[in-house]
Amino acid sequence: MVPPSIVSTGEVGSLHELSVVIEVVRTVEEFARENGVTRIDKLVLQIGELSSMIPQYIEDCFPCAVDGTSMVDTKLEIEILPGNGRCRSCGAMFNLVANKGICPECGVKDAEVISGKEFMIKEIVAC
Ligand SMILES: [Zn+2]
Repeated sequence: MVPPSIVSTGEVGSLHELSVVIEVVRTVEEFARENGVTRIDKLVLQIGELSSMIPQYIEDCFPCAVDGTSMVDTKLEIEILPGNGRCRSCGAMFNLVANKGICPECGVKDAEVISGKEFMIKEIVAC
C-alpha cells in the first residue's frame, strides 16, 4: 500500500486556501461581534485573477471553515477581479490572463500589473 501523498499540488493548494478562509472567517466574526451583529447572511469576497487564491478552492473549503462557528449558515459570494496590466512598451492596458501577458497592441511581453492581485472582504451582509 502506498500512503497518500500530502505534497501533491492539489493538497497544498487546498490547505493554503483553507487556512486563509479560516482567517477570513475569524476576521468577519470579530467584526460582527464588535458591531453587535449576531448572524451574517452573506459574505462577499473579491479575488483577483492574478492572486494566489483559487476561487474554486475557497468555495470548496468554506463549509469546512465555518463549521462550528456563528457563520455556519452564511452564504459565500465571490467576485473575480480582472488581472489587468499596462504595457511598458506602448502603454496599452489589457487583460494579462486573456492575453497571456503579451500586449495585444505591440506584441511585447513586458507589462506592469495594475490590478488582479487582490484578495479582500468586500461586503458583510447581516441578517
Ligand atoms: Zn504594447
